[in-house]
Amino acid sequence: MTKKNATEETVVVPNSAQSPVTSEAPKVAPTKKTNNGPAKKKTNPNQNQNQNQNQNQNQNKPQNPNQNKQQNQNQNKPQNQNKNKNQVEQVVFTEENSKKPAASVLKIIPLGGLNEIGKNMTVYQYEDDIFVVDCGMAFPEDELLGIDVVIPDISYLKKNASKVKGIFITHGHEDHIGAIPYFLREINVPIYGTKLTLGLVENKLKEHKLNPKLITIVPGQVIKVGVFEVEPIRVCHSIADAVAYAITTPYGKVVQTGDFKIDFTPIDGQKTDLHRLARLGDEGVLALLSDSTNVVREGYTMSESSVGDTFEEIFRHATSRIIVASFASNVHRVQQIINAAYQNNRKVAFSGRSMVNVTGVARELGYLKLPSQDMIIDIKDLGRYPENELVVITTGSQGEPMSALARMANSEHRNMEITPGDLVILSSSPIPGNEKSVYKIINQLTKKGAKMIYESLADVHVSGHAKQEELKLMQALVKPKYFVPVHGEYVHLDKHKQLAISMGMHDKNIFILNNGSVLEFGPEGAKLGKPVQAGRVFIDGLGVGDVGNIVLRDRKHLSEDGLIIIVVAISSATGEHISGPDLISRGFVYVRESEVLMEGARNVIEEELKKCYAKNIKDWASLKSSVRDALSQYIYQSTKRSPMILPVFMEV
Ligand SMILES: [Zn+2]
Ligand SMILES: [Zn+2]
Repeated sequence: MTKKNATEETVVVPNSAQSPVTSEAPKVAPTKKTNNGPAKKKTNPNQNQNQNQNQNQNQNKPQNPNQNKQQNQNQNKPQNQNKNKNQVEQVVFTEENSKKPAASVLKIIPLGGLNEIGKNMTVYQYEDDIFVVDCGMAFPEDELLGIDVVIPDISYLKKNASKVKGIFITHGHEDHIGAIPYFLREINVPIYGTKLTLGLVENKLKEHKLNPKLITIVPGQVIKVGVFEVEPIRVCHSIADAVAYAITTPYGKVVQTGDFKIDFTPIDGQKTDLHRLARLGDEGVLALLSDSTNVVREGYTMSESSVGDTFEEIFRHATSRIIVASFASNVHRVQQIINAAYQNNRKVAFSGRSMVNVTGVARELGYLKLPSQDMIIDIKDLGRYPENELVVITTGSQGEPMSALARMANSEHRNMEITPGDLVILSSSPIPGNEKSVYKIINQLTKKGAKMIYESLADVHVSGHAKQEELKLMQALVKPKYFVPVHGEYVHLDKHKQLAISMGMHDKNIFILNNGSVLEFGPEGAKLGKPVQAGRVFIDGLGVGDVGNIVLRDRKHLSEDGLIIIVVAISSATGEHISGPDLISRGFVYVRESEVLMEGARNVIEEELKKCYAKNIKDWASLKSSVRDALSQYIYQSTKRSPMILPVFMEV
């Protein structure tokens, strides 16, 4: 909006002081100081270097987005100015306006992370301004045969692509950054995150040969995104440099915690910023979206630094080689393993692609500090040192079949072999669903003579997520008007709701949402709007979304009952078969051992074809479906199984 327009506007304002245009404004006046009121720039004490920039923008742009809209309306309808002078017409105008739609609403739309663990993504929208918090992936469940990765369905954002202003990332875990490459191919927007988070994002994008705008942010900074202001707040988690976000919207502030725990003695000294959260609580918070991952666990999550003492103790007494498996992204855990190794005069080698990559990024950015530069050795050089002077830090703590630890367990590791006496520590706890693969690895390694230490035997792991008492503290500090439990299966979300109710929050102010739910905030408070498209997009190798439900159904069918292919040669002259039917079975029965069944099947097909010719049915589609039905019936009667049947006709 130009200065000239602004001047014209000041002429209009006195006239329209009582005019319907003004009375149509949101019921919450811009100057009113309430939780639900439109955002007031001055109340935010945390503005720093961006302040000047914001103020400049504010001079040209009214603070209340609705006001902005009204000005545009005024400009487009100059006749309003004349009409406003006439009292009689003004009354008519009021009636006309009362039929107009209500004020704009703030929409919060989760596209992932609800009723599931993983693929976290939340959309914030006000009119034409949209931004996204987190862009994660999930690992497929067993029933998704052959699928490598699952990402959120972003159809809604694609439809509104021109409105999307950016992605804000809470931290560098895959369930928060894993879908970024796929997202950027559809919608190219800047990505905001802290230094380590963006380092990990950059590393990921390199593999995908993408080069978007990455904007490094620091806690306390305020970033303007359309009508919104986004402020990162330091939180502790099982990865360094994690943040929550406080989002100033036209209806008040929303706090989204991301994954967090409250650690009073974190390795890097960066504590969860309880002061800022408490101040936000005092300023008034419209809604809280809080991490539910560990809500079923009572008490407090132990400090990350408690694990360091356990390592030190174990390393001091160990006389053999030590192999520690951990998440590569848990830089603080890796730091503590390195520290314990240093104190006990051991060299450290990294194994596994993500361990090498992530520790590389973390060292480069100063998040991983080496007590001595020459203590890191190449995994190829293990043989040059005595076994009791070595620690190998590896991936594979979740029993992932292709990981470095799994390769060690299967004697497939290029650079090392597990030998009797090796001490293997799993510094992790199995993510729900991974228990089987973790115990498989423990068994394999034990068979090879390794001594195993895992979570149930010693305190070699602490969680990165808040337990009940920490979640209560978050509620108590932030004091939200509305509460939305996020990050979790339904059982977690419901438990988190009960936790909030036990602290005095009213049932009707808590929303358990689904992916695709639209939570709307307006002058009258919060309510559910019409849901948008949401769901899962499957990635199989290089294909994005080309494996749909039908392909998966086929894979499931094939995996359960196998396949029979019927090959028939049809004469082009007569339209009848001249050789075959030949039967090929895969995953159903071994043909040579089932001669009787196969002979019966061939007879059934031949009979069925003859029946068709008798009725003069000769088009291939009808022939195929008749043959398929007849064979399917026969096979089911003989074996009580339903293999997939695939008729292949050839014209000769
Ligand atoms: Zn996380
Ligand atoms: Zn997470």
